[in-house]
Amino acid sequence: MSDDAAARTGTSEASRVRLRSVLAQMPDYKPGKPASAPAGVTAYKLSSNENPFGPLPSVVAAITDAASTVNRYPDMAVTALTQRLARALDVPAECLALGTGSVAVLSQIVSAACDAGDEVVFAWRSFEAYPIVAQLAGAKPVMVGLDADQRHRLDAMFAAVTDRTRVILICTPNNPTGPCVHAAELDAFLDRVPSDVLVVVDEAYVEFVRDPEAVRGLEVWRERPNVVVLRTFSKAYGLAGLRVGYAVAHPPVAAALRKTATPFGVNSLAQVAAIASLDAFDELNERVESLVAERDRVSLALADQGWKLPQSDANFVYFPLGAESGDFARACEEAGLMVRQYGDDGVRVTIGETEANTRLIAVAEEFGAR
Ligand SMILES: *Cc1c(COP(=O)(O)O)cnc(C)c1O
Repeated sequence: MSDDAAARTGTSEASRVRLRSVLAQMPDYKPGKPASAPAGVTAYKLSSNENPFGPLPSVVAAITDAASTVNRYPDMAVTALTQRLARALDVPAECLALGTGSVAVLSQIVSAACDAGDEVVFAWRSFEAYPIVAQLAGAKPVMVGLDADQRHRLDAMFAAVTDRTRVILICTPNNPTGPCVHAAELDAFLDRVPSDVLVVVDEAYVEFVRDPEAVRGLEVWRERPNVVVLRTFSKAYGLAGLRVGYAVAHPPVAAALRKTATPFGVNSLAQVAAIASLDAFDELNERVESLVAERDRVSLALADQGWKLPQSDANFVYFPLGAESGDFARACEEAGLMVRQYGDDGVRVTIGETEANTRLIAVAEEFGAR
């Protein structure tokens, strides 16, 4: 920066400001790449696990109606949505805590449970927000590698628990690798974990799960006072742009989450859109079914080509390509498919429009199965 520019933006003074040193150690969150493609090729954004379908007309109508009230603050207690959700899930309203996406709710959980230096245990690779949320709260991320099938190693996670552990995150299905944790293995794990450690079951993709052995978060929550279930309207419900997610927690934990929330966080458009989406569940569920069918079509086609990919119970597939990840991501992008590369670990591709999925099958065939 030139001296003039530095003077205009006040950089020279600002550089003396003391910020938390943890920020310098934290990676920037990398958003999914926007769609872009060579001339003449339609680009598809398959990099953020978004729902390819736009909002339902009934949802757009609810948002449009509420637009005329945005001079007012939203309902801080999120009353109507909480009531509607309690009915949909068959849980008491006092057990729900809403937030601006489930990432924000997770950050409320960690700030409610962790003092500086306390530990948050989770699998790796898993959701990229986990280490960021832990570090921002002043907690220490403890990352436990996945097994060769890209699944959680719950024994190793149990071994990582210390007297500083306050939160354990279980991502099922695991983003970005795809497999879900099984009910029996989670039960055995929870029998051993100290009952004063909060165990968060992150079910962001629960609507896409078809594995009969999969964890059912709400059933586990009903049995265990130290379990919290995290869900979101961003994926199956297609409301990623409005930012609304929630926790199902036992009353003392739910109350703590309301204390750690940003006041008036869940905006009025998000509140009405989420209610309209719950009202239109059957219609939305047809879309979920079609995405599950597409995931299964893609998974089968890749298996037929000889690919050995981890089983996905979510709306994405994962290619654990190691050092070849960059080559594969480039091949996808040259074909107009924006995908998510995880360094030299692998590449995650969201199940999107039928045409995009078909193109992925073609790119994978051309690349050659691994
Ligand atoms: C997408 C995702 C979320 C949800 O994020 P929102 O903040 O609700 O949009 C949470 N957990 C995992 C594992 C995810 O992949």
